Amino acid sequence: MPETYRRLETQLVHAGEPSPRIEGAVEMPIFQSATYTYAGETRYDDVRYLRSNNTPSQLALHAKLAVLEGAEAALVSASGMATISTTLLALLSAGDHLLAQSCLYGGTHDLVTSEFPNLGRSASFIDATRPESWAAQLRPSTRAIYVEAMTNPLLEVADLRAVVAFARAHGLLAIIDNTFASPVNFRPIPAGFDLSIHSATKYLNGHSDIVAGAVSGSTRLIERIRHKANLLGGALDPHAAFLFKRGLKTLALRVRFQNDSALRVATFLAGHARVKRVHYPGLASHPQHARARELFAGCGGVLSFELHGGVSDAEDFAARVRIPAIAPSLGGVHTLLTRPATTSHAGLTREERLQRGISDGLLRLSVGIEATEDLLEDFAQALR
Ligand code: PLP
Repeated sequence: MPETYRRLETQLVHAGEPSPRIEGAVEMPIFQSATYTYAGETRYDDVRYLRSNNTPSQLALHAKLAVLEGAEAALVSASGMATISTTLLALLSAGDHLLAQSCLYGGTHDLVTSEFPNLGRSASFIDATRPESWAAQLRPSTRAIYVEAMTNPLLEVADLRAVVAFARAHGLLAIIDNTFASPVNFRPIPAGFDLSIHSATKYLNGHSDIVAGAVSGSTRLIERIRHKANLLGGALDPHAAFLFKRGLKTLALRVRFQNDSALRVATFLAGHARVKRVHYPGLASHPQHARARELFAGCGGVLSFELHGGVSDAEDFAARVRIPAIAPSLGGVHTLLTRPATTSHAGLTREERLQRGISDGLLRLSVGIEATEDLLEDFAQALR
């Protein structure tokens, strides 16, 4: 990579792009070809084929992501869940055990609770904010510890430094789903994690027009994951790769704006008489506010909140707001609003949700890139 690509904003635009430019094209064309002519490859994984994750649209993304993450290598896939399932199946063999944070993204939680037993793997859940409780869950077969940068929907911030130190002390791989932070707010590999995973559907692409996933880490680990990916088959299509890479170029602009806008929205909501509680690590009232300030450059666009009037007020609010789309997902340019009890956490029983602090009336907001003043005016009229 040229020396001049020193800072994130420049790397987002230029790192990994073909040099010299293909036919002078300023933007890399889409390589919509499933297969490529044989050039003497000797290993199956090296034969150039879309499912092998080694074609030009995929390779350019791998190179760009590795630079952004400060990693040796990266691998993209067809969704965040394709990356998560492939990574865990590649690195844990039958008989192996995983320590996982207790409040994981629903799909990941389902994977390790319902699918792992069928596949001979097991997992135990830890309270990631209490490092002193982790050792009791270790087994001789424990191979990795898996956490998320901020949990959904309460934005809990684990003791990420302690996760890295614990993994080192016990010979485990430290894996983080960094979706909620993005490399703009937190770079896990320089912080000591072995692997950084993203649902690229969220901030990395940022436009709610594709699903994609990515994992970054050492060449050795990424090659193991790529081999498994070639067998499981969740490869990213070149057209989606193009949209992913195009979206990445504005990542820093979008996420920094979202950091500021979400903090202003959170502050507004926290001061409103009809709002009971706001969960956002950027607010001084958040239990891990000090840790978030130490670890992250910003806290991202997602926050959650409860109204005094419970479910009926929450539904009323969702019906009255005009800018947000009532839709799952997060991290994109559109502001999105959901009620986790009926969407992301509908798979849990009410008791399980309440145990995790997710009340029926909790609303989750993903602040997009609309004018903050328009959002504030919209929320003020909806609350009136
Ligand atoms: N990880 C987190 C933190 C998520 O929020 C999501 C999706 O919401 C995923 C992983 C799964 O990603 P995808 O929907 O791209 O498969």
